[in-house]
Parts: sequence; C-alpha cells; structure tokens
Amino acid sequence: MVFDAMAVGLGAMGSATLYQLSKQTSHILGIDQFAPPHTHGSTHGETRITRQAIGEGAHFVPLALRSYELWRELERNTGENLLTITGGLFVGDAQSNSQMHHKPDFLRTTIQAAESFGIAHRLLDTDSLRREFPQFQFRANDVGYYEDEAGFLNPERCISAQLAEAQRNGATIRTNERMLSMESKGDVVIVQTDQATYRTRKLILTTGSWITESFRNTPYQDLLRVHRQVLYWFAIQSDYHLYTPDRMPVFILSDREVYGFPAIGGPTGGLKLATEVYAQSTSPQTVNRVVSEAETQAMYEQHVAPNFVGIGPACVKSVVCLYTMTPNGDFIIDQHPTHPNVLLASACSGHGFKHSAAVGQILAELALLGQTGFNIQPFQLAHFAGK
Ligand SMILES: Cc1cc2nc3c(=O)[nH]c(=O)nc-3n(C[C@H](O)[C@H](O)[C@H](O)COP(=O)(O)OP(=O)(O)OC[C@H]3O[C@@H](n4cnc5c(N)ncnc54)[C@H](O)[C@@H]3O)c2cc1C
Repeated sequence: MVFDAMAVGLGAMGSATLYQLSKQTSHILGIDQFAPPHTHGSTHGETRITRQAIGEGAHFVPLALRSYELWRELERNTGENLLTITGGLFVGDAQSNSQMHHKPDFLRTTIQAAESFGIAHRLLDTDSLRREFPQFQFRANDVGYYEDEAGFLNPERCISAQLAEAQRNGATIRTNERMLSMESKGDVVIVQTDQATYRTRKLILTTGSWITESFRNTPYQDLLRVHRQVLYWFAIQSDYHLYTPDRMPVFILSDREVYGFPAIGGPTGGLKLATEVYAQSTSPQTVNRVVSEAETQAMYEQHVAPNFVGIGPACVKSVVCLYTMTPNGDFIIDQHPTHPNVLLASACSGHGFKHSAAVGQILAELALLGQTGFNIQPFQLAHFAGK
C-alpha cells in the first residue's frame, strides 16, 4: 500500500498536520518515536501563550488568526477546553528595542501589527499599569500593550484532541516507532522505521528538535540551534485570587526577559514563569533534564523578585523544554533540500505553538494540493542559505 501522506513526529506541528490531512483523506499515517503528548521535546508544560498581533513580525499574523479559528473548531468537535482568553499584557521601556525569539523591536512591532490588522488593544502608561496590575513591579518608563483576545492554550490537550480527531477520520497512528531513514524512489518515498517499511507519496517531517538529523549532508546541516529552556512554577505567597486567569493576563516583560501565565493550579500550584536562554546549544539526546537549585535561585533573584509582588523563592516545580532556533527567529516550512516529495517544518524558534494549527493546514495543503493560500515565502529554506 502507498499512503497519500505520512507525518513523522506527532508533537505540535505533526498532530495538527495529521488532523488537517485527515479532513481530506484517510490514507495517511502518523508515527512518533514516543507517545505524544510527552515531555521529551518542545510541547509540554500545561500552557502556551497565544496572541494575535505578533511582535516577531506581521507575516505571522495570518497564521495566528487562522489558528484561533482552528482551535475553536476543534473545541466544538471534541468538547475539549483548549484556548482560554485572559487578555495579554506586554510591557517594555518606551525607548527600548528589546528582542524576543531573536526578533528586535518586539513591543513596537506588536503595536504596529495590531494597528494594521485591526486587533483590539489598549496602550497603557506607567500609572495605568500600576493601577490595573498590582501583581507586577513596574519601572518608571514602562509602557504596556494590552491585547483583549490573547490568552493561553493547553498544548498537551491540543495534541491529544488533534490526534483523536485524525484517528476518528480514519488516519493510522503508530506510537513508540522511530523513523530511521528515508529514500526517494520515483514518485514514492520509502520510510524505514525501527519496526516496518512504509511507502508514501508525500512525507512530512515534523520532528521538532530532532529535525537537525534530516539536514545532515545538506547545506543546512549547521543552520538550527537547539537550546535548553526551563519552565518554573514559583510559590504564590499573597492573595491567590490576584493571580488567577480572571484577574491576571498572560504577560511578557520583554526588557526583563521574563514571561508567564496566570495561576491555574490552585493556591499551591504556583505561578508559571520563564526566561529565554541562548548561551549554549544542546541536542534532545544530550540535554541535561535536571533543574539545579542554583539555577532556580538565579531565576528567582534575576527575573522573579525584581518584577513581581507576592511571589516567593520556593519553586513548586520546574521542567526542561527545548527551543529549536533558526538564526533570525523565523520558521522553516519548505520542501526538503534534496528530497522533492519530502516537506518539513521547523516551526519553533520559541514561539511556534500558537501558530501550529495553521502550520498543520499549510503542510496538509502542500502535501495534497501542492500549494497553499498562506504566504510561506518568508519561511523558505533559501532565506537561510549561507547562514
Ligand atoms: C519552554 C518553552 C516555552 C514555549 N512557549 C511558547 C509560547 O508561550 N507560545 C508559543 O506559541 N510557543 C511557545 N513555545 C514554542 C512551541 O512550544 C514550539 O514551537 C512547538 O511546541 C514545537 O512543536 P514541534 O511539533 O516542532 O516539536 P515537538 O512537539 O517536540 O514534536 C516533535 C516530535 O517528533 C518526534 N520525533 C522526532 N524524531 C522522530 C523520529 N525519527 N521518528 C519518529 N518520531 C520522531 C518527537 O518524539 C516529537 O514527538 C515554547 C517552547 C518551549 C520549549
């Protein structure tokens, strides 16, 4: 049998792709080396920020907007709660051009994108920030952008819902099965796993941090960097109800390199906070998955104590997660450089989850129709030639 399409890697991007493929054909296969959702890659930790005016670049806005529609469609079809709207507060110094995800001018680009796409928002001066959001310590020159429809997604539930829907539509899913190699033969790609050999017209690689393996012996073999990141839940010491989703939005303090979420785990569940660390590269095979007391203490002293009110140094829990970065923070959504019937997506760069539903649609359209209505020109590998 020859499948119409096969997705390898069923995390954020692969589960979305399989779901979108399954709306068109049931002759599709998805495999994963683990049993998603799992904690070995980039898509775990209970929450991911979603927002519509994308400070990493206006070219991402259509992906975010389409994803909102797809999350709501999935919620209607499955009865699951995937997307929680809390509003989003993004704060920086009025004069700063601070980076997020390797993209400069995060706050300014966010405001411009909101204005050009008509996305509902308010701008706040320092006094308004202090009055409305007593959970934070603001600085004298801070300005805020508040987006009404920002919020958070539950990544594990999104993966499970999409895989369940794909299966309901007839897709075959095989977990704990690892792809070892691929070979193009005429119009067919032959995929060898540790358990079987498969033939497919289109192969889609959504292998997250493992995607570097598929670039070996191509001009892009040194393009991507995998970085270890830590998610922390710090103890709430004051009135818990100030930190719940009805009172506290998702937030990014871009100058202070800290972002986080309202508390969803009850009074003892902690406030989830994180920073971004790019100093060293790693790999999914060799990454240190243990969070030390010293790094937890450094996180508290540098990023938590100076910026929040009522959050204590006790860490309720922490978890290691992986960013796969392109040099400029854009995604890669393209044909494999040496295999014409192989598509691939590296849609992380630290901000990919909110776009993953739309990335799945794009990959399914490319695989089954050979084209997509989305502008994926910024995500072509050619942009990164020589980098
Ligand atoms: C700490 C952290 C915070 C983040 N915060 C946000 C946020 O707030 N908002 C946001 O939008 N985004 C955020 N992101 C980014 C987002 O989570 C990622 O863009 C997204 O999860 C990437 O998904 P993926 O499908 O590419 O990778 P993964 O979900 O890791 O999936 C890859 C899958 O491929 C499988 N695989 C790999 N190789 C093989 C093989 N050979 N055979 C079979 N299976 C294979 C793996 O087992 C894995 O299941 C964050 C990421 C991290 C790490």
